[in-house]
Amino acid sequence: MSFSLIIGEDMKIAIDGPAGSGKSTIAKLLSKKLNFEYIDTGALYRAITYIIKTENLDAEDEENISNIIKNTNFRFHNNKIYVNEICIESEIRKNSISKNVSDVAALPFIRNLVNSVIRKIVDISENIILDGRDIGTVVLPDAELKIFLDATPGIRAKRRYLELLDKNESISLKEIKEEIIQRDYIDSNRDVAPLRKAVDAIVILTDDLNIQEVVDKIYNLLNNDL
Ligand code: C5P
Repeated sequence: MSFSLIIGEDMKIAIDGPAGSGKSTIAKLLSKKLNFEYIDTGALYRAITYIIKTENLDAEDEENISNIIKNTNFRFHNNKIYVNEICIESEIRKNSISKNVSDVAALPFIRNLVNSVIRKIVDISENIILDGRDIGTVVLPDAELKIFLDATPGIRAKRRYLELLDKNESISLKEIKEEIIQRDYIDSNRDVAPLRKAVDAIVILTDDLNIQEVVDKIYNLLNNDL
């Protein structure tokens, strides 16, 4: 397979991987470098979890949640998520949301709601990068390039720990590691669209790579024969 970088060619890039593998950081930088649209699909699952939590909704009440979500406007601006024009980016990154998001994302009707929001954005975008858990397998099975980013749990926990520390959230490294392992377990074992590497995805292990090295690796894949 070979790719050429012609903007306007309707190119789709799928980046999947477990929690803390660096998907969003890499996808953001890559989208900037390529001038592609970018959707952080995890942010949509987090936003719905946030709505359920703040509105005190019953996550299993499909009818009520579907009505609310269908009447909610989700928008990304400068890589930040806006719900009904209010930026909730910092709220959705809190550990209280990380703890609950996988249970919400395991509900099939929630996945359908998120996928219809994603589809609307993809349909009006020419070139786009999506990151998540089921992008290469379910959301964009025809993506021109599929990447599966991975790293050992210890490294992923450390990255997340430093991120939260930076935001003044006090949580121990041990707790974060346990939570990441638990989240990966739920994400990998749910019935619908579990976290999986697509058969045609290229695996990049990021333990020994810095952010720029990962971005360059993917960028080079786009320019060279695979
Ligand atoms: O990528 P991030 O860690 O922010 O994703 C939060 C959660 O959203 C994941 O742990 C997973 O439960 C869910 N998710 C998903 N499918 C996606 C993206 C995220 O189930 N495509």
